Amino acid sequence: MQLDLTERVALVTGASRGIGRAIALALAASGAAVVVNYRGSESAANDVVEQITQQGGRALAVQADIADESSHDALIKAATGNFGRLDILVNNAGITRDTLLLRMKADDIDAVLNTNLRGIMLLTKAALRPMTKQRWGRIINMSSIIGLTGNAGQANYAAAKAGLLGFTKSVALEMASRNITANAICPGFIETDMTAHAFTDELRAAALQRVPLGRFGSPDDIAATTVFLASEAASYITGQTLAVDGGWTMY
Ligand code: NAP
Repeated sequence: MQLDLTERVALVTGASRGIGRAIALALAASGAAVVVNYRGSESAANDVVEQITQQGGRALAVQADIADESSHDALIKAATGNFGRLDILVNNAGITRDTLLLRMKADDIDAVLNTNLRGIMLLTKAALRPMTKQRWGRIINMSSIIGLTGNAGQANYAAAKAGLLGFTKSVALEMASRNITANAICPGFIETDMTAHAFTDELRAAALQRVPLGRFGSPDDIAATTVFLASEAASYITGQTLAVDGGWTMY
């Protein structure tokens, strides 16, 4: 199976921590040059770059808030200017602002939709320009099982993540003739800062009951799926939603 990404160039949003960090490291380990985007965690992003370069890879940290479209051109240029092209966009950055809808403020809705959906749509649009010229591209969108099932206390997040699934299919249809694929990953419960902050011990135990494989996921589980979707081995897969959730949503 061909998972070699040598000569490929990737942009991973939110790659300073958690799932994005694991994805950046895994893409680099497969040979890709990686633009490591972060919003606030500069030293964590620099650590990711250092780890990649120490292992002989190519990487660059670039600060940008995905919700702010005025930063998008600079992000794309970081890839094309420094590494000559852009082949793989992993729209991983995401936030939560959890509360019940009856208590949810307009700001909580705007912040989550702007980062988790609107920003991704506009960044993808910008990334498609070099990909279209190259006639090769991979868009990989980090949705969530919450986008499939909904969740009490996460109406804003669920709406954004479900919206991402429709967006992914539309991009897949529009770009198929240019040899650009678009797919979405729906992680289940993955051990990161995001879940560490949101779940009490009681909620964690209840969540674990719902995972047939009997463990929570690790960022590396999502990174492995991302590398596969980015590779030549996945060239006949587009418009798909892949749950990587230990079986949580199978029934
Ligand atoms: P995390 O640990 O909270 O890390 C979030 C990352 O996104 C950080 O690198 C953060 O950068 C970056 N980020 C946040 N807002 C940003 C913005 N506006 N612009 C640029 N970067 C931004 O989250 P995670 O658990 O790794 O989740 C990653 C993705 O997977 C998210 O889209 C999340 O919704 C999705 N997901 C996670 C789980 C899970 O169980 N963890 C499950 C389903 C889906 P800074 O630190 O520099 O601010």
